[in-house]
Amino acid sequence: MQYDVIIIGGSYAGLSAGLPLARARRRVLVVDAGERRNRYAEASHGLLTNDGKAPGDIAAQGKAELLNYPTVTWLQAEATAVTRVAEGFRLSTSAGEDVTASRLILALGVVDELPAVPGLAERWGRQVFHCPYCHGYELNQQPVGVLATSELAMHQALMLPDWGPTTLFLNDVFTPDAQQRQALQRRGVTVIEGQIAAIGGERAEVQLADGRRHALAGLFIQSRTRIASPLPAQLGCVLEQGPLGAFLKVDAMQQTSAPGVFACGDAARGAGSVPLAVGDGAIAGTAAHRSLMFETL
Ligand code: FAD
Ligand code: MG
Repeated sequence: MQYDVIIIGGSYAGLSAGLPLARARRRVLVVDAGERRNRYAEASHGLLTNDGKAPGDIAAQGKAELLNYPTVTWLQAEATAVTRVAEGFRLSTSAGEDVTASRLILALGVVDELPAVPGLAERWGRQVFHCPYCHGYELNQQPVGVLATSELAMHQALMLPDWGPTTLFLNDVFTPDAQQRQALQRRGVTVIEGQIAAIGGERAEVQLADGRRHALAGLFIQSRTRIASPLPAQLGCVLEQGPLGAFLKVDAMQQTSAPGVFACGDAARGAGSVPLAVGDGAIAGTAAHRSLMFETL
């Protein structure tokens, strides 16, 4: 079967991209490996009409809404390789069957690289976070920490006092200069030097190598992100370097540098969220449709 569009990634961005195409009765295949970035979190915040709902429930509702349209097909699989062919694109998947389409939408998301501190990964999404807008409010103005993984810790440390009394743990990663220390002081941030040995306790107790312990309601880190897929390179898509990691360069219509290839969600912006993925997806879906109607590759 030749599809009009294959969407790779069936989470918030990909589902949203599918809707306008489905509503134009275009043949859409969604290929999804099912590894949403926020699968570690119990609740997702900030998406209007779904604030605080379980991330999996939001995705499941979106999938059900999209699959209501008869021209949409779902393939639970990993897309492993892509080539350009006369019909557009040929995609290999872990399901074993090759599929072809005239246009591609990459809604691949990103993978977080967490600092290798014992006890941290187990708490990711529950007591250890990257985004105060997503999870800060629920910490109820209790003490919060920032674990420096780079100088970007400054940015988080200066934000977090709006959510609770804030301690910045330098962990021998960087040394604030005089101006930075002044800025931290103005925001009432406590600065703790020294190496961190582990995160423990019931919530997020920071345990320093010299034995000091700081009990916190939540800990924030600056995770590095990467697109964990060979497909963008196989398509020759240009990447942009952001402060957190590389992401796909797109224009205002979510078109990548590769003709016929669109991208949306976390994989195509410097720092993403569920509502932004939904918005980018809506643009990518309509732009892919416009390209089908008005352009030849
Ligand atoms: P994702 O949701 O990551 O989905 C990408 C999909 O593509 C996955 O299903 C993946 O398996 C699939 N995929 C990737 N490669 C392939 C391939 N080769 N073949 C097939 N499928 C593939 N944002 C908020 O707005 N509110 C919050 O409260 C919030 N909390 C968060 C908590 C945590 C712990 C984390 C890490 C993030 C949180 N975020 C939150 C951010 C949010 O998770 C992302 O912005 C959002 O998931 C981006 O959606 P997406 O569709 O671009 O990518
Ligand atoms: Mg954009």
